[in-house]
Amino acid sequence: MSILVFAESSEGKFKKVALEVTSYGKKLAETLQTNLVVVTAFTENTEVLSKYGAEKILIGNSDALKTSDASIWADFIAAAAQKENADIIIIDASANGAFVAPLVAAKLQAGFTSNVVDLPVSTSPFIVKRNAFSTKAFNNTEIKTAKKVIGLAKNSFGLFENPVQSTVEDFSPELKAGKIKRTSIDKTTDEVTIADAEIIVAGGRGLKSGDNWGMIEDLAEVLGAAKACSKPVSDLGWRPHSEHVGQTGKQAAVNLYFAIGISGAIQHLAGVNASKVKVVINTDEEAPFFKAAEYGIVGDAFEIVPKLVEKLKAFKAENG
Ligand SMILES: Cc1cc2nc3c(=O)[nH]c(=O)nc-3n(C[C@H](O)[C@H](O)[C@H](O)COP(=O)(O)OP(=O)(O)OC[C@H]3O[C@@H](n4cnc5c(N)ncnc54)[C@H](O)[C@@H]3O)c2cc1C
Repeated sequence: MSILVFAESSEGKFKKVALEVTSYGKKLAETLQTNLVVVTAFTENTEVLSKYGAEKILIGNSDALKTSDASIWADFIAAAAQKENADIIIIDASANGAFVAPLVAAKLQAGFTSNVVDLPVSTSPFIVKRNAFSTKAFNNTEIKTAKKVIGLAKNSFGLFENPVQSTVEDFSPELKAGKIKRTSIDKTTDEVTIADAEIIVAGGRGLKSGDNWGMIEDLAEVLGAAKACSKPVSDLGWRPHSEHVGQTGKQAAVNLYFAIGISGAIQHLAGVNASKVKVVINTDEEAPFFKAAEYGIVGDAFEIVPKLVEKLKAFKAENG
């Protein structure tokens, strides 16, 4: 038996989630005293997978993988699991991962749990902790099948270096042609997206108008952060709907989340509460967000944010 991780790449490098699932797989392999195998279709810079504990790396190099058809990717991952006799398959919770993981489980007749946030609570029986209801609750779930597919929630485990010597193999199982084909991609922006962000700077109705977003943009730029907003802000047309986070918008589980002029309504928190460190800037000390935040500043965003930007710029200039 071994553990198999699927490592996704994007724009010429492994995604951060690929390194997170590899870190998770390595720790689980240590617990179960078994080997970690990573399967990927990305041929470059595989050393980074060795750094995070991949003992064996299978590289798919087939033209059939030049497809956005999730069922072909699921065939590829399932074939790797069969080849390596993997009982546990770990896949990230990115948009692609969330699509592919249940298909892999169906192909392997495996039990599947999404939103897993930690190493198993117990390995016999095999019980994992999962988040539920937009991280307002957790539950423990037993996977009863011999083969198990785990969907790891983003930013739930973190990155742990665990350098090993890896063997690298070509892996080109026979794959069918995809049933669908992506014909074009029109990127709307080159900025950091909410899905890929480590840091998010979000603004709410407290900023009074879309014309006041310059300071949010400045703060996001100096931090290398993605921009986000509350629902009323996008409903009012101050910001594009692609920036709307919360229960009915995008989910944000980042390391650092700035909520500026956002009250912290339950529907907003439902989408951002999984972020590790939340910093609130709000004039109203009774704003509900302060209860959910790790740090809070009671004060006027129009005074505080420009000062913060200035200090961060000075800090960056001094520290390179
Ligand atoms: C079914 C449903 C789904 C919803 N889904 C979502 C969702 O996905 N995402 C979402 O965000 N909302 C959602 N909402 C709306 C949600 O209930 C809140 O209305 C919304 O989050 C409030 O947005 P806000 O905090 O920007 O605005 P407000 O509630 O108006 O809060 C503005 C805040 O800014 C502060 N403020 C004012 N001036 C300043 C200043 N100068 N400096 C600093 N702070 C200042 C105020 O004290 C206040 O706390 C949903 C609602 C429903 C019913």
